[in-house]
Amino acid sequence: MSQNPPNLRPDLAPAARLGDAPARPGQPALGMVSLGCPKALVDSERILTRLRAEGYAISPDYTGADAVIVNTCGFLDSAKAESLEAIGEALKENGRVIVTGCLGAEPEYITGVHPKVLAVTGPHQYEQVLDAVHAAVPPSPDPYVDLLPASGVSLTPRHYSYLKISEGCNHKCKFCIIPDMRGRLVSRPAHAVLREAEKLVEAGVKELLVISQDTSAYGVDRKHDLHPWKGGEVRSHITDLAREMGKLGAWVRLHYVYPYPHVRQLIPLMAEGLVLPYLDIPFQHAHPDVLKRMARPAAAAKTLDEIAAWRRDCPEITLRSTFIVGYPGETEAEFQTLLDWMDEAQLDRVGCFQYENVDGARSNALPDHVPDEVKQDRWNRFMEKAQAISEAKLAAKVGQRIDVIVDEVDEDAATCRTKADAPEIDGNLFIDEGFEALKPGDIVTVEVDEAGEYDLWGRLV
Ligand code: SF4
Repeated sequence: MSQNPPNLRPDLAPAARLGDAPARPGQPALGMVSLGCPKALVDSERILTRLRAEGYAISPDYTGADAVIVNTCGFLDSAKAESLEAIGEALKENGRVIVTGCLGAEPEYITGVHPKVLAVTGPHQYEQVLDAVHAAVPPSPDPYVDLLPASGVSLTPRHYSYLKISEGCNHKCKFCIIPDMRGRLVSRPAHAVLREAEKLVEAGVKELLVISQDTSAYGVDRKHDLHPWKGGEVRSHITDLAREMGKLGAWVRLHYVYPYPHVRQLIPLMAEGLVLPYLDIPFQHAHPDVLKRMARPAAAAKTLDEIAAWRRDCPEITLRSTFIVGYPGETEAEFQTLLDWMDEAQLDRVGCFQYENVDGARSNALPDHVPDEVKQDRWNRFMEKAQAISEAKLAAKVGQRIDVIVDEVDEDAATCRTKADAPEIDGNLFIDEGFEALKPGDIVTVEVDEAGEYDLWGRLV
């Protein structure tokens, strides 16, 4: 929903981060601005992988690029504005711009503001993006130097990688236009996902971040069919997929899981250590009437009971979730239910959005929109509670020995993450003594000696 970190912008990214040598003389070069969520980032990676395989160089700046691809996000109106701004900047700095991604589903919206873009393609239209690139910047392959790296081009640091298991969504949450933009659920065959996961691990990836719009629904569209895998068969079902992925030897982190009853089957895999004891589960609210008005999947689930069952089966589980406050019609009493629910649920990690109308969303037409100042007040109260819970949970970790993965090392400290922290959205653990020999991707044991609101500090043991 928001722009990727500055180091993934072509105007700022070091070339080495993109796994590329500078363009050789005469080699066509493309720039890429990747906006939006991790799912969009995976699309950008796929496009770059193909382009590099075809002999294009990837330019880290606007001036070195023969054209720039802008992968847009159109989830919220603020994300649309950000996408239009990025297109404008690329036009100004480079002049030759191809637009793709979610906002590409509304080409007139883009061309109305930026008539000079070379082409507009929608989400996952890889072939059309490539056609547009070929038309704008013809390829000039050199079979001796343009070998595709084994794991493709990764925009994320090499020791972790996002892995997309399905596209689209069969739900119709009223605040969300993703099903209109991305279509119904289409799951990748289980063996294709596992092969990609295996290749990534072989290439040195230490952590796989499983993403989709609805991870627990994986395989429903395929009726959980069987696929050949390692001399046996694997079902296209999230439990089977997670189990097989867990055997590859990397950390496996599951994002966007909904609280369906079969999620309970994932918990033993966490307790066994095959999958990280971490569930990113977007509850969005706790009051049943609000959830019904949102048309949320599993709206009737008894989530507190489910959470208690997960914690019973895997006491070290970390639960992350996102919420919307100020949804149309949300009363003070409904909001209070959410606060009370938080007291019970004691979630480890929480993100919260104030409700915002999105062009085309059905929730826009609901009655009783909540005034902005009430939304802000509820957001403050909610975040205050969430922060206090997070702080207490982190404080309880002081003195514990835990495994962490190293993300970055500079002259001051090694920035790491525990199993409870997903990259870019959760906190960090810092080691500021004796860290010099560490390198990104190392997994080491530390003793936690200090805790803040969202981060920890520790020393190597
Ligand atoms: S589950 Fe709901 S919020 Fe998530 S993508 Fe589907 S419709 Fe959107």
